[in-house]
Amino acid sequence: MAEALPGSLWTIPWPDRFCNMLLDKLTSEAATHRLVGGALCLDFANTINGHSSAAPHEYLAGYSDLVVWSRRISLLTDAEAERLLRVANERSREAATAFQRAIELRETIFRVFSALALDRSPKSPDIAALNEARLNALNHSTLSPTDDGYTVEWIDKSALDRMLWPIALSAAELLISPDLSRLHKCEGDGCDWLLVDTSRNHLRRWCSMDECGNRAKSRRFLARKRKRRTR
Ligand SMILES: [Zn+2]
Repeated sequence: MAEALPGSLWTIPWPDRFCNMLLDKLTSEAATHRLVGGALCLDFANTINGHSSAAPHEYLAGYSDLVVWSRRISLLTDAEAERLLRVANERSREAATAFQRAIELRETIFRVFSALALDRSPKSPDIAALNEARLNALNHSTLSPTDDGYTVEWIDKSALDRMLWPIALSAAELLISPDLSRLHKCEGDGCDWLLVDTSRNHLRRWCSMDECGNRAKSRRFLARKRKRRTR
């Protein structure tokens, strides 16, 4: 059964058409997508599997999926997700542009970190694009006082691409973090998900044991069985 989004999106008092769209989205793949990357930017890169294959598995079919996924990963509150979906409904062309920008950022993140996971150097234009996204994110943040100090807040909260700002910062943080040495690409057949291995023994090879791990184990078992038969 699909996992429901946390929170109260079910209770939105909107016109039926809009509510129905949202209810559909709550059970979409964007709402139930596995989060196994260990870093926000990698979970975002993992919203598609088989980036360069002929038949990739896409979890984000459009802007509303992007909002639902962002809510799932707590980049947005219920109220913020509702607001963005409402704005997107009114300004569909802008929403389409924001979605296109999101996919471009996702693919840039994938190219950079999949190169690094394979001990290759990322291409300069990709690092430049990541830096531009990082600067854009910083331009949309400000220091704000709290009861016991200061915090960094996002400004322009109704911007349709606001979920891309923390994702861009996450990519920049991972690039300069010691965790980069634990970056891997899943070894599952046809799986190109990226992950930071935070396991105690640093032997994680698959995005998840339930999916790619078990498939690899059964393949090895069948191969051994075939080998024994041919002896
Ligand atoms: Zn995998």
